[in-house]
Amino acid sequence: MRRKLAAGNWKMNGTSDALAELDAMAQASGGAEVLICPPATLIARAADRVRGAIAIGGQDCHAKASGAHTGDLSATMLKDAGASHVILGHSERRSDHDEHDEDVRAKTQAAWDAGLVAIVCVGETLTEREAQNTLDIIGGQLAGSVPDSATGHNLVVAYEPVWAIGTGKVPDTEQIGDVHDFIRARLERRFGAGVGRSVRILYGGSVKASNAAEIFDVSNVDGALVGGASLRASDFVPIIDALN
Ligand code: PGA
Repeated sequence: MRRKLAAGNWKMNGTSDALAELDAMAQASGGAEVLICPPATLIARAADRVRGAIAIGGQDCHAKASGAHTGDLSATMLKDAGASHVILGHSERRSDHDEHDEDVRAKTQAAWDAGLVAIVCVGETLTEREAQNTLDIIGGQLAGSVPDSATGHNLVVAYEPVWAIGTGKVPDTEQIGDVHDFIRARLERRFGAGVGRSVRILYGGSVKASNAAEIFDVSNVDGALVGGASLRASDFVPIIDALN
């Protein structure tokens, strides 16, 4: 059985004050795994504060382990700061930093080499959906962004339609199910049934307390990657509860 995962992506939000939000999230975890990915400046203090009650992750890493890359962070550094996971290939990284599938693949390998779980994000734009290219796009991103040595332990896939991120728009449950079933089938085909069935697939994009239960009912949805509604415990705890 795949353990459900409620993952929060704080993006470029949060200073010291935000750490207090973690306390109630850590208490809510129940059966589901809970992960918060704060900005890198807060990772070490977040990890110290929650003491393993919930997992702490990064939002990106460099593909190299060290070197002359001003401003970048390696997967080893994230791990050393207390992170166990890292989000890779988020659509904001793909668009703001011109990251392509091959970059995401190299970063994912670096994350695995450092012992981190990689949450690899895929998702179509509205134009791609309207042109009925969604599954081609997702299939291509998945094939290009995930290295060959994936397992149910080192990989989580997040399906995040670009048009649903931060917009309040959510695909209907049939659309979510179609993409999640497709991702599951692709994972099984490439990695075999054992690994393919054990990788968790999260939905992300405007998840909130009021729509979480309905989304979590969809086949092959193993949890959520939540942006805005993960910043405050009062918004995120009900989402965790909907998974439990
Ligand atoms: P949102 O962001 O929940 O604010 O839409 C999700 C994400 O980008 O991971």
